[in-house]
Amino acid sequence: MRLLVVEDERDLNRQVTSALEGAGYAVDRAYDGEEGWFLGDTEPYDAIVLDIGLPKRDGVAVLQAWRKAGRVMPVLILTARDRWSDKVEGFDAGADDYVSKPFHMEELLARLRALLRRASGHATSEIVVGPVKLDARAGRVSVNDVAVKLTSHEYRLLSYLMHHAGRIVSRSELVEHLYDQDFDRDSNTIEVFVGRLRRKLGVDLIQTARGLGYIIEGDAGPKTPR
Ligand code: CA
Repeated sequence: MRLLVVEDERDLNRQVTSALEGAGYAVDRAYDGEEGWFLGDTEPYDAIVLDIGLPKRDGVAVLQAWRKAGRVMPVLILTARDRWSDKVEGFDAGADDYVSKPFHMEELLARLRALLRRASGHATSEIVVGPVKLDARAGRVSVNDVAVKLTSHEYRLLSYLMHHAGRIVSRSELVEHLYDQDFDRDSNTIEVFVGRLRRKLGVDLIQTARGLGYIIEGDAGPKTPR
């Protein structure tokens, strides 16, 4: 999962970014409304954390511009405490959730997990496909109830495929959603990671759709229309 953090306070941006990276997400960052708008408009993020009070272009205007252009990714806004009008304007502009500053990082992480799983049609943070269980809250994977140790890249790959179980995911989509901007994006590395993941899981979970990408068949969770 690849996220964008738009926040002009450098310290807060860094804290949020490193917490998200620590939780296994690929993260890009922006420090003003122009840069944030551009990245959100051109890159396929799975979710965006957007501050409302931003230089150059405020968060509400950025969000309105994304929604007007048909960008549907989940957006969580950061609002100043006691500014209830921020929240109202934010929701009217198309925000999916908010936290007020100052906030606990754990709350932000939990709200993002909820947004990400709802966006992919899952009701809980556990996704089960056959013998494989992915617990997005704990960041753990097990096969037949035996824990499997994965690197953060392998976990990210499996998590993305499991969140999108039942449909073919192309290599280029994986590259776009698994790596941040600074990463050397070579889609051949995806094949290497898939190979390692298959060996570690030891079960027939990830199918190759020849010439198209990969698919995990079946899905335990109900699908909600997007
Ligand atoms: Ca701000």
